[in-house]
Amino acid sequence: MRPETRAIHIGHPIDPGNSAVSPSIVLSTTFMREADGSFPHNFVYTRSANPNRNALEAALAALEGGVAAAAFGSGQAATMAIYHALAPGDHVILPADIYFGTRALMEQHYNRWGIEHSVVDMSNSANIERAIKANTKLVWVETPSNPQLTITDIRRAAEIAHSAGAFCVADNTWASPALQNPLALGADLVMHSTTKYIGGHSDVLGGAIVAKEENDLFIRIRGFQQLGGAVPSPFDCWLLLRSVATLQVRVNAASDNAESVARFLAGHAKIKVVHYPGLENHPGHAIAAEQMRRFGGMLSFQVKGGAEEAIAVAARVKIFIRATSLGGYESLIEHRYSIEGVNSVAPPGLLRCSIGLEHVDDLIEDLDQALGS
Ligand SMILES: *Cc1c(COP(=O)(O)O)cnc(C)c1O
Repeated sequence: MRPETRAIHIGHPIDPGNSAVSPSIVLSTTFMREADGSFPHNFVYTRSANPNRNALEAALAALEGGVAAAAFGSGQAATMAIYHALAPGDHVILPADIYFGTRALMEQHYNRWGIEHSVVDMSNSANIERAIKANTKLVWVETPSNPQLTITDIRRAAEIAHSAGAFCVADNTWASPALQNPLALGADLVMHSTTKYIGGHSDVLGGAIVAKEENDLFIRIRGFQQLGGAVPSPFDCWLLLRSVATLQVRVNAASDNAESVARFLAGHAKIKVVHYPGLENHPGHAIAAEQMRRFGGMLSFQVKGGAEEAIAVAARVKIFIRATSLGGYESLIEHRYSIEGVNSVAPPGLLRCSIGLEHVDDLIEDLDQALGS
């Protein structure tokens, strides 16, 4: 089956009990044991496994080309499970442009527990090679990255990690499995905030880790999921599986819109730079064209005039909504520097847009009037 077909059929069996086409939500926390002590469906207690979670995990593993997936209650819970699976004294390499929370968890919590880290600009893979140490266990890749859409060569990053005896994990939230499959490029794990494109409707928080192999690292991650219990509810899993079915069409439509918006912004007099890997002059364009099927619905731009002007532009939008997060059907705009707080490394004049599924002419007209032209 091709990806679009898999997304609709894997994890969506017809219910053998009542022939329902849309799966039922199994709220029961506990499952009956037979007289002989067995569990005929292998469900015991819902923290360990639940039918809705299993269905979602099967769909996510299929979409990423992995052997297994572990679903979590948020993207950050998934990231924590990966960090937890390391040991004190291990060294992690993080990208300089990165989802703020991934770095904050490391700096505010895991350093204290003896995990070391380095931060490097991964748009040049030689920087990753230089940062490798004897105790490097993980190379964390995020591409396209938040908020500057830096592109990292996943294949090269995985090769560098593996030659040092380390694992490579890719945060694939922004591209989504509809556009990019890091496991096929050599990554060992894919991490997702399913809150974003996979959820697609800004109404469910979730995370997931997909594994290329059920190795010791993934077995430890599964252990934290099942014993730690940072799991999504059956209803959350149901919402996410419902959304997986439309992932490809939503992401294709968002990519169409974002490509047009990026071209409009690139020609605008009030704009200093547009960060969108689909533009030929983006420094990561060639690698993005190789490892992504489309360039996605996320873009950011810097206005001339810095933070004050960026905030003024965001204040004037009428269709875009001023809000954080991304990947929903509605277009969002955000001044990243002020939302991230004092430790932000985002440029002060940067606005980040999650381009939604509205008519593209309405989006372009809205940005045009907000830019004050
Ligand atoms: C949102 C996001 C996360 C964190 O996920 P939550 O679901 O908010 O916990 C991690 N990585 C990226 C790239 C994100 O956009």
